[in-house]
Parts: sequence; C-alpha cells; structure tokens
Amino acid sequence: MKRMDLDLPPDDDPRRVAVRRWFAEHPSPTPAELVDAGYVVPHWPRPWGLDAEPELQLIIEDEMRRAGVSKPVNPIGIGHCGPILVALASDEQKERYLVPMLRGEELWCQLFSEPGAGSDLANLSTRAERDGDVYVLNGQKIWTSLAAHAKFGILIARTRNDVTKHRGISYFIIPMDLPGIEVRPIREMTGEALFNEVIFTDVRVPVANLIGEEHLGWGMAKTTLANERVSLSTGAGLQWGYGPSARDLVELCRTRGGLGDPVARQRVVEAFVEGEILRYHRLRMISAAVNKKPGPDASLRKALADPHGKKVFTLARDLMGAEGLLAGSDVGADWQPWMRGFLFSPALTVGGGTSEVLRNIIAERLLGLPHDVDVEQGLTWEESRRLAATR
Ligand SMILES: Cc1cc2nc3c(=O)[nH]c(=O)nc-3n(C[C@H](O)[C@H](O)[C@H](O)COP(=O)(O)OP(=O)(O)OC[C@H]3O[C@@H](n4cnc5c(N)ncnc54)[C@H](O)[C@@H]3O)c2cc1C
Repeated sequence: MKRMDLDLPPDDDPRRVAVRRWFAEHPSPTPAELVDAGYVVPHWPRPWGLDAEPELQLIIEDEMRRAGVSKPVNPIGIGHCGPILVALASDEQKERYLVPMLRGEELWCQLFSEPGAGSDLANLSTRAERDGDVYVLNGQKIWTSLAAHAKFGILIARTRNDVTKHRGISYFIIPMDLPGIEVRPIREMTGEALFNEVIFTDVRVPVANLIGEEHLGWGMAKTTLANERVSLSTGAGLQWGYGPSARDLVELCRTRGGLGDPVARQRVVEAFVEGEILRYHRLRMISAAVNKKPGPDASLRKALADPHGKKVFTLARDLMGAEGLLAGSDVGADWQPWMRGFLFSPALTVGGGTSEVLRNIIAERLLGLPHDVDVEQGLTWEESRRLAATR
C-alpha cells in the first residue's frame, strides 16, 4: 500500500521559501496580483494556475493562511464552472470569462436544478430552440445559489426530444441580464436568500454562448457536478468546507471553562474524533490529486462530512442550552456562527447531491455494485415523461 504523507514540506523546502517570499513582497496582494501569481487556482494549467502538484497546492494554501490573505470569492465560478471552461470552452470564451471570474469581479451561478429535475437532473425540461444565430430559452430553474448577484450562469437545457433523456442536452453560458430572465429570491430559515427561482421567457442566447458540442452537454454536466463535490469537500469547515470545525467546538468549550456534564463531554469527544478522521481523509483526497480528475472519493467524503456537520451543529445548539432554541437570542458572539450553522445544516445533506444519491455513486463506482435500476433506460425524454404521468 502506498504511504500517505501527511506532513507538509518543512520551512526550508525551496517551494515553500519561494511562496513565503512572494507573500513577504506582496503583503496585501490585489486579486489581480494573486491571479497573475497563479495562487488562486494553483492546480489549474497555466496561464491561470501553476499546474501545481498536491504538495505545492497545500504549501500555497498554508502560506496564504499564514500571511492572512484570502482568495477572491466566487465559489460557484471558480469551483464548478471554471474547470469546465478550462477543459472545453473555446479560446474566445476562455479569454473573455476566466480572468474576471478568478479575480472575483464577475460572480457566477449554476442553473441546473428544476422543479421536476434535481437528483434526476437529466429529466430537465427547460428548452433551448435554435433560431438562426440565437437559441430561444424557455423554462424554470430553482435553488440557484447567488443568481440574484451573478453576472453569468452556466445552464443546461434540452435541445432535442427524440433521443434518450441523457442525450439532447446542451450546455450554455448565460449573461444574467438578458431580457426575459426573472430572478425570484427564496427566503431560507437562516433569514438569508442564498438561492433563487429563475424564470426564462423567450430569452435569446447567442449561439457563441454554447460550450462544447450541441446536444452533448450531459457529459459536461456530470463533470460539473463531480467538480462541485470536490469543491464542497476540500475545505476544513463543517459547512461544505467553510465555517467552524469540530476542533473549534472543543476550543470553544475549553475557553468557556469546560463541560461539567459527562454525557455532553462524551458527545464532544465523539465529534472531535469523527472530525479528525475526516481531516485525514481530506488530506488523502488532496494527496491523491483529486482536483485533476474529479472522482468518487469526493462523493465519499461528502457523504461522511455532511451528516457529521449536521451532528456537530446540533451538538453545539444543545450546548448553548435554552438560549440556543430562541431565534435572535443573545448567545454571545462566539456562539453566533454555530447558531447560523445549525439553521443551515439541513441543507448540507441535500445540496451538491443528496446523501442517498452519493451512496448510489459510492456503491456503483467504488464498490462495483450493480447499477441503480432504471426502468426508463432507452426511452426518449417524451416517452419517459408520458410513462411518468401514468404512474
Ligand atoms: C443550499 C443549496 C444550494 C443549492 N444550490 C444550487 C445551485 O446553485 N444550482 C442548482 O442547480 N441547484 C442547487 N441546489 C439544488 C440541489 O442540487 C438539489 O436540491 C439536489 O440535487 C436534490 O434535488 P431535489 O431537491 O430536487 O430533490 P429530489 O431529487 O427530488 O430528491 C428528494 C428525495 O429523494 C431522494 N432520492 C432521489 N433520487 C434517489 C435515488 N435514485 N436513490 C435514492 N434516493 C433518491 C433524495 O435523496 C431526497 O431525499 C442547491 C440545494 C441546496 C440545498
């Protein structure tokens, strides 16, 4: 078995020395400087990244944290959309979109889910019909994170009906200010409106905005979802890599004088142990260079990390006592991220692939078990819809 190296390269490693020197020379780098240095996406190919192997990626992350520098924020753009553009967009598209995306100047969203197509995404019914040099788009998307702020979105739509449902899907770049696009924010129980409904009525999308080949967008959509799972799995926090971790909860209990209740102590220890196992799994994933070829490993981590996140946020809420039950109660600043996290946590096992769907992927692709039964296989999309209506 190959040994996994969990120690980061030492202080005198020449790669680390070079990165540390760069941050010393650029103590407050602008987003443009970070992009030019290749530090926003070191694992991407040049000129956007550095073709960095996993160790160099970890060094850059580590040195960036040490220097107190943050990357430009564009989670869906950089995490989900960018890798597809790098792999399959035309040179003109790459030239136009990638640098402003990496600098965080143009926010992106992902227009995939529909009221009738979530886990079974290939069931989507938004249509794009060719009319000369445009596609005319009609339909509805839902749960689109950041749509109200995004400048662009990636969208999949049906361009053919007479083939099986996984075919006849095309992949587009959508400027979110095109006439005929209506964005309706959805209020969530955190009080925020992260996601939205997006309605398309006769929206005219230039043919130049198609990515890859017409009708062959499904493979790209699957790669985007795999990239999404990698992106939601590589950070250390409980909320899809962001926010506090189980270690932070232990630290918080400690600074508050410890826990008198032995049952609560036992739960905190269990959460800590689980968090540490997940931390090592994360390092193993990075060590396996998962950013280069999104694989089922990220599904495994997400299937384990999301229920862990829910459990730790629920534990934190219990530790807050009666005050934790009250919206807007004054639990103190150190508990605030835990309050917000608890309210967000039911979303963890749904977004980016539900835990049940991830277990299907693990069963099929990691364990080699038989495929999920799909009685509709081989039917055209219209035949499949007709069959569904008779059930
Ligand atoms: C916070 C958040 C942000 C999101 N952001 C975006 C976004 O930016 N863009 C976007 O396009 N979408 C987004 N989504 C939507 C997300 O991708 C979908 O919610 C997800 O794919 C599940 O689809 P669904 O909600 O339609 O549930 P359904 O697919 O209807 O599932 C309902 C239930 O059935 C189960 N189920 C379904 N199929 C199977 C199966 N084959 N085997 C076993 N069980 C099954 C599911 O696990 C689930 O419990 C977001 C969701 C959340 C929670």
